[in-house]
Amino acid sequence: MPTQFATAEPFDAEALRAAEVRLPRPSRLAAPLTHDLGPRAGRALETLGLHTVGDLLEHLPRARGEARTVATLQRGETATLLVEVRRIDTRSVRRRGMKPRVEANVADHTGSIRVSFFNQPWLVQRYPPGTRLLLTVRTDARGRVSVTAHAPTELQVAAEAQIAQYPASEGIDSTRILALMREHRDALADTLEPLPARIRTTERLPDRPAALTALHFPVDEGEAEAGRRRLAFEELLLVQLALLRRRARRERAAVAPCLDSQRTLTERWLESGLPFPLTNDQANALEDIDHDLAQHHPMQRLLMGEVGSGKTVVALFALLRAVEQGWQGALMAPTETLAEQHFATIQALMPGEAVPAALLTGSTTARRRRDVLGKLASGELQLVVGTHALIEPDVRFARLGVAVVDEQHRFGVRQRAALDEKGPPAPAGAGGEHRILTPHVLHMTATPIPRTLALVQYGDLDDTVLKQLPRGRRPIETFVASGERERARAYARIREELRASRQAFVVCPLVEESETLQAKAARAEFERLRDGEFKDFRVVLMHGQLRPREKQEAMAAFAAGGADVLVATSVIEVGIDVPNATVMLVEDAERYGISQLHQLRGRIGRGEHPSLCLLFGPKDSARLKALAAHRDGFELARIDLRLRKEGELIGGVRQHGLAQFRVAQLPDDELLLERARQRAHVILDADPDLERPEHALLAQALASAYGPAGLHTVAA
Ligand code: ADP
Ligand code: MG
Repeated sequence: MPTQFATAEPFDAEALRAAEVRLPRPSRLAAPLTHDLGPRAGRALETLGLHTVGDLLEHLPRARGEARTVATLQRGETATLLVEVRRIDTRSVRRRGMKPRVEANVADHTGSIRVSFFNQPWLVQRYPPGTRLLLTVRTDARGRVSVTAHAPTELQVAAEAQIAQYPASEGIDSTRILALMREHRDALADTLEPLPARIRTTERLPDRPAALTALHFPVDEGEAEAGRRRLAFEELLLVQLALLRRRARRERAAVAPCLDSQRTLTERWLESGLPFPLTNDQANALEDIDHDLAQHHPMQRLLMGEVGSGKTVVALFALLRAVEQGWQGALMAPTETLAEQHFATIQALMPGEAVPAALLTGSTTARRRRDVLGKLASGELQLVVGTHALIEPDVRFARLGVAVVDEQHRFGVRQRAALDEKGPPAPAGAGGEHRILTPHVLHMTATPIPRTLALVQYGDLDDTVLKQLPRGRRPIETFVASGERERARAYARIREELRASRQAFVVCPLVEESETLQAKAARAEFERLRDGEFKDFRVVLMHGQLRPREKQEAMAAFAAGGADVLVATSVIEVGIDVPNATVMLVEDAERYGISQLHQLRGRIGRGEHPSLCLLFGPKDSARLKALAAHRDGFELARIDLRLRKEGELIGGVRQHGLAQFRVAQLPDDELLLERARQRAHVILDADPDLERPEHALLAQALASAYGPAGLHTVAA
């Protein structure tokens, strides 16, 4: 591409080197993959997507295994041996039409075996005595050995030899794939190096051909691992480049109101209106947001903080910054209960201020809705809290400046984007095109996301974390309990707490199949406890199928201390604050996920008394053990990720965004990910569009991984 050379500085040595690399030369990688393995193996290669030599060389081993030794062969198993041919000759076969059979005596340092090759008389010439072979053999129940695959190898015969093991498919096995690799090994030299030399040097990474060689033909564990890390780094660098470029593009394309005028309302509010001092984390979050709002491009910030960490104050600050500068603020929550709760909290948080605010949900009456929509469109209403009802097409804002999305992961990408379109028209640009101002958006989540996952899934957002919990939280002791004796003890313990005037939650098993079944189970448990274990106490029931009024009554009774025990389904997960509740018992706890249990448990330990959480379930459950050991949501999220990852390896189900990588193994490679992230920043700071010659191959690799425009394939 001559245009790129024209812009390169003439004496930039690196540019010249890069330019050299880019000179077209015949590459062996593009050649069709030829082989003499027969049609069945040929079809298998097609199935694996291996059409060219390049495809083959990018087919990476899944694992490395050690070669087995002759002495350890078991009956009824298949194993790969690394052996040397001692004797080899042909036996004629009597049956008509059959080619002579080749018989060989092969050995390693532990012993020798006799093997036969059928229908391949040429092997006598190909494998003369002294040839080293990689043999995959199957031993039947009677100890007879048959060869299922064979290939010559350069590896030394040694017990600790590393052998690449490939994802195989019906018709071709790993050993044959390795043999093909060997055949085409020389072509590895043609592999292009997308990483700029400077990065490879600072990161001390082998070049691409060396990395691939080390993976396919490992000499030792260390070299193979270095090769793997090299490819993993490249993979992670590409994803970070894609995400950061997506963000940069958004920043260039979208214009937001620059909210940098003086504070009047917020200053007054922070100094005297707020009922408590901010935690340091909250203060930092306010600073981050203040800075974002003063930019000409829209804020896209993710605010992570556990339930109770005080996100609402932070959200309210962002909204009030808009309001005090003549803009509107909107807060969207995924459920009506949450929206109502936010609305109430927000009003409680600014007692002295008279900011016109309204609630808009699916239950808002038609008349009220018309009124609210009218006032949003006229600008009279400055603050609105609501559900999806806020993004319906007929909702128009006069001057939407800041939008907050709570529990953002519960909204679809489209729904989140819908808020972007609610901004006012931008002042006509030079070209006179019709553009709108995009509001600043704060995304909030109470589900802690380990940084690894956040970097991959939300790598195009800025992030702020609220780690400190505001009020002095009381300790919660968590136990895993099982069996009748422990159950009886648990109830006795709960009765003790109840007699001390505390309250308890009993959470019923999760019934995934149907809400009706779940409600039924909850009712049965409620009746059992009311008439049995807790017959001396006041027990109430709460589940998703109750009428809204019944729910409210049950909740109100429990919150006011009019009930001692609340038997509930997981509907209590969000939105309930009863500081006097000190016990939670969860039935069939292993049916819940780690983060769900963590959220549930967050309902206790909120008052002045220490709390107790009893998880009924198998004692050896890794998830339940994690909950018993940790209270920090981020730590639990990390463990969750690790456990899921293991589940994935076993079950083969893709459960999260980390599964998209071919080589990188997250969370284990998290340091590598951090470094890739930093590198991506450095590269794009210097060359935002990857136009420099030394980035040409990187740009090409990026385009082939994430498409020319980049990036919709990154994390959904
Ligand atoms: P969440 O992050 O779960 O949305 P909230 O914003 O609802 O948390 O806050 C939880 C409770 O803590 C609320 O009652 C809120 O008023 C209170 N709170 C928030 N920040 C502080 C603080 N800095 N000091 C004391 N209480 C606080
Ligand atoms: Mg909240």
